[in-house]
Amino acid sequence: MIKKFGDVVMIQLSDIDSNIYVIGDTVIDAGTGFNFTRLKDFLKTMKKKLEDFNEVINTHAHFDHVGGNGFFFDAKISIHEDDSGVLESGDEEISLAAFFDGKLKPRQVNRKLRDGDKVKAGSMELEVLHCPGHTPGSICLYDKKSKTLFSGDTVFSDGIGRTDTPGGDHAAMNETLSKLAGLDVDRIFPGHGSPVLTNGKKVIADLAKMGAQPTDDDDESLIGRPV
Ligand SMILES: [Zn+2]
Ligand SMILES: [Zn+2]
Repeated sequence: MIKKFGDVVMIQLSDIDSNIYVIGDTVIDAGTGFNFTRLKDFLKTMKKKLEDFNEVINTHAHFDHVGGNGFFFDAKISIHEDDSGVLESGDEEISLAAFFDGKLKPRQVNRKLRDGDKVKAGSMELEVLHCPGHTPGSICLYDKKSKTLFSGDTVFSDGIGRTDTPGGDHAAMNETLSKLAGLDVDRIFPGHGSPVLTNGKKVIADLAKMGAQPTDDDDESLIGRPV
């Protein structure tokens, strides 16, 4: 499905793909790459082609967000420096590609992002916020002017990202949540599920209060939760 929220277009290809956001000629997260035809069809309805994009920003190096990077063949790839090695080496364990039965080819990273960097996306100027917890190099992208947060798998409308996969760290996640709780946020566009369109600040504050807990490998409540 494809939905427009002002200048942000959200594309959802399947239950396992990350949300894909299109803002101008920038893409935030690329999905698994398994649903290429559907992606092309959705872009066609926006009168866009795969070669029209300049930059793909990955919120982290999990396969459901980076597997589709190669389809945007003219775009440069940007990801936080602490997750960039996973793409460069094509690590199928840490990226969870093996878990998705996917292949991750080693790929050049054009820009290694750091906390505080600015990236342009359409009319937005997004600030890179380093948000370790879900993965070491997870980021959120924040547009102060429109109080919009692209939250990757750090914060969803109804919960926080998992910290039980390789590189996950619940203590780091709690620090990240406290940091995000200090932001003035209306809209949250997460890596999975529905966006939050008003009062995102309260959603984050409530999630930060609940916090991340250490998780058992065999915790059944994790079954079916996005990675
Ligand atoms: Zn993830
Ligand atoms: Zn994900």
